[in-house]
This record gives sequence, C-alpha cells and structure tokens, in this order.
Amino acid sequence: LDPPFLVKPAQRYLPEVLCKNSHPVPENFRVEEVRKSPELKDGQVLVRTLYLSVDPYMRCRMNDDTGADYLLPWRLDECVDGGGVGIVEASKNQALSVGTIVTSFNWHWQTYDVMDGSLLQKVDAEMVDGHLSYALGAVGMPGLTALLGVREKGHVTAGAHQTMVISGAAGACGSVAGQIARLDGCERVVGICGSDQKCQTLVTESGFTAGINYRNGDISSALREQCPRGIDIYFDNVGGPISDAVISQMNPSGHVILCGQISQYNKDVPYPPPLSEDTQEALHRNNITRERFIVLNYMEKFEEGLMQLSHWVKMGQIKVLETVVNGIENMGEAFCSMMTGGNVGKQVVKISD
Ligand code: NDP
Repeated sequence: LDPPFLVKPAQRYLPEVLCKNSHPVPENFRVEEVRKSPELKDGQVLVRTLYLSVDPYMRCRMNDDTGADYLLPWRLDECVDGGGVGIVEASKNQALSVGTIVTSFNWHWQTYDVMDGSLLQKVDAEMVDGHLSYALGAVGMPGLTALLGVREKGHVTAGAHQTMVISGAAGACGSVAGQIARLDGCERVVGICGSDQKCQTLVTESGFTAGINYRNGDISSALREQCPRGIDIYFDNVGGPISDAVISQMNPSGHVILCGQISQYNKDVPYPPPLSEDTQEALHRNNITRERFIVLNYMEKFEEGLMQLSHWVKMGQIKVLETVVNGIENMGEAFCSMMTGGNVGKQVVKISD
C-alpha cells in the first residue's frame, strides 16, 4: 500500500470578537503522513478514497460549539470527516466485496482508511449515471436537500403561475432546486448568485428564467424587473441582506424554504440568525411561512428521493454542475474557495482515480 495521508485541522477556528467576520483559511488545516496497518478485523474493510465533499455546514464544525445538536465539532487531534466516496480494496465484511463502491457522511479526509462496513452504504454506479462524484452532489445529500426542501416546504402547485427565487442559486443545492422548481411547475425561476458567468450558466444550462448577480448593484430593482408578479416561493441558502430584499417583494401567503444562511456562517450568531425588524414584520403582515428545513429530518424519504434525482439526471432533465479540484492536499483550499463562491455547482475534491 502507498502510505495513506491524513488531514487534520491545525487549529479550531473561533471568532475573535462577537459578530466580527472571521473567514476560514486553508492554513486552518494541515496534512500529515501516517502509516496504517492494513490488517482488518471482522466486519471491517480497507477503502481507497475517490472523492471527498466540502460543504458549508463544515464551517460550523470549525467552531467549539457547532450550534446544532446533530453536528460535532472537528477536533484538533482527530482526522477531519465529511461526505466521501471510495472503493473497497480489501474486505473482511461479507456484504462488501473488493471493488464495491461505497459512501458515508462520516468519511475521513484520508487517502485510505480502515472502516467498519456497517458505517458504509453501497453506491450503484448506474444510479449516478457513471459519475461517482454525483453521489456527493445532485444524487446525494445536496440533491436531496433541493428536492425535499422544495417538496416539503415550497408548496409548488403546477399551473398556479408561481415565481420562485433561489439564493446561492449556482451552488450544489441551489442549482438543483431551481431545476426542480421548473420540473414541478413554477412559471418563473430566478436565481441570485455572485457572478455574471454564474448567471449565464443558470439560464443557458440549467433552464432558469433569469439570473441576478448580487455583486452588481441593486438587487431590489433587478428582482422587480425579473419577478413582475411578485415572489411566491423563496429557496433561501444565504440569509442576510439578500434575503431581506427578496422577502420584501414576496406575495401574501408565500413560502420561504429556510435551507441555509451561508452569509452569516462566519459570524458568532445563533442559527437561524435573527431577522431585521422590517423583514420580520413583512413575514407577519403577509402571512408568509418560514419554517426551518433540515434534510436529515427526512431520512425515510431518502431512498425514493435518490431514485427520483437519479432518473432526472439520467434523462437529462437535471443538468449537473460540478467543480472538481484534485488532491487531498487541496482540501482546505477547496473548502475555503467554496465558502467564497469559487464553485459552480457542487464542489468536490478528487482524491484518486
Ligand atoms: P454551495 O455549493 O451553494 O456553495 C456555497 C455558495 O454560497 C458559494 O458558492 C457562494 O456562491 C455562496 N456564498 C458564500 N458566501 C455568500 C454570501 N456572503 N452571500 C451570498 N452567497 C454567498 O453550497 P451548498 O449547496 O452545499 O449549500 C447551500 C446552502 O444550503 C448553505 O447555506 C448550506 O448550509 C445549506 N444546506 C442546508 C441543508 C439543510 O438540511 N438545511 C443541507 C445542505 C446544505 P456565490 O458565488 O453565489 O456567492
């Protein structure tokens, strides 16, 4: 075996001052070489990592208190973990033969690992249209977040001429959510994201009605122009001033899908972060629902959801956007890049062929 590499956070990341912006940097991580005995106990497998995922929720795991009871903080002396896909290279588990492709939400950021087979789920290459990295994106947790977010909290009604706005629209969840909104019958799907190039991709590749670059001046007037009949549904990935602008143009009895608030993740605020008085008032006055959505609360719907996403991807009804970086040494770089908009679609890191 080649020597496995183990990535550890060199330090935990804590805000210096309450509510002061504090951005993670690649130097928050270090790479360490370790040697692992390839000897396996019963039930264990040796896996070689193929792809690792970097996700916004990981920012919370860099805080001493993650703010969520289902998320544990990363520890300085422990290997970082998150979503991963790999291949079984040696096995003492009857259900997982050599060559099986497997995935887990708690995959160590490590080139090889010895894992208990009970922690792994099999990946059917056909389900992901031959693209194993899709198991971390459009046919994985972010795809499920988009699908279940829209279906559980969006109240989309085909033929009702609804307009949905999506923030963080060019990212892993947002780009899929917009396509599902169209498939489920929204008349207009408007995406807000951080570059003209991303806006163009959303319209030309992902079938959005329009894209709005929030770095390009006044979002409110752009929203008025692109949503002439107001906004019925808002898939919120970012929070902050972008969401204030969207909510202020929502129609009565509209619905906010409270998926994430990435614009606030580098601040020392609770989740969900408090709203401005004006936004709170607009929600109340217009009878707009804004319920917290957590994909992990819908595990019983995952299998069916993955089948649906797989079908759409294979039929070409959902176009998958992905940004791939190579090499375990670039995990920190990829994470920080994703947190600042360096990705189009799902950001993954390819670890081996
Ligand atoms: P993305 O692929 O969307 O990547 C994050 C994106 O956020 C960046 O590409 C960047 O795009 C945008 N962004 C970063 N900072 C800001 C900012 N200050 N203002 C506006 N946009 C910003 O990540 P995911 O699709 O994985 O996650 C999207 C959201 O969904 C996150 O909030 C995440 O926490 C949430 N989520 C929630 C889940 C749930 O169960 N509720 C499950 C999974 C994700 P840009 O160029 O547009 O700025």
